[in-house]
Amino acid sequence: MAETLVELAAVAAECTRCELSKGRTNVVFGSGDRDARVMFIGEGPGEQEDLQGLPFVGRSGQLLTQLLGEIGLERDDVYIANVVKCRPPGNRDPRPDEIDACKGYLKEQLRLIDPVVVVTLGNFSSKLLLRTTTGITRLRGTAYPWWHRWLVPTFHPAAALRGNPKVLAAMREDLQRVADLLEQGPPEEEPTTATPGDESADDSDTEQLGLFG
Ligand code: SF4
Repeated sequence: MAETLVELAAVAAECTRCELSKGRTNVVFGSGDRDARVMFIGEGPGEQEDLQGLPFVGRSGQLLTQLLGEIGLERDDVYIANVVKCRPPGNRDPRPDEIDACKGYLKEQLRLIDPVVVVTLGNFSSKLLLRTTTGITRLRGTAYPWWHRWLVPTFHPAAALRGNPKVLAAMREDLQRVADLLEQGPPEEEPTTATPGDESADDSDTEQLGLFG
């Protein structure tokens, strides 16, 4: 078990635990404040992220930075990472075996950073971390108590960049919720491992992050 994020990043930089290592240019471990109170989690690195070794660069990253600014946060105030640290070929979804191989890094990032609020960006990471098959459109709009933190699911910035003004408005609403939760502090309720009322939470493809907690 790594004692610091720097140690963990060094281990990840050499990682060959899954086949995604074969096609990567860089391991995209994550970036931002190691003591951040907010941590954003996306799906996996895209082309530019793979080339630069940083998460959420390009237009999606710019929009995220803009939305953070609207709630008084700078990019360096938060931590940003992905479920898998190496780029899936052709930007396909990570496979269950790849998520399984990589989940230890995300779990340790959460332990070491210990954020008050986790924001999942997009359908994939939102469904995975909440262990549900319910889509992001229905999941978002609320905050879930999640392992003694809050989890706020929202759209991926790329979805807002496709031009639907409702998506951008929803993201603004979700980010305002994040700001309010930072004022409030962590939840007192027991941790949530699944979306309330979601009977599909034990589906095998959503068991991949079952070690959380
Ligand atoms: S995706 Fe994760 S488990 Fe797979 S090689 Fe990269 S760092 Fe290792």
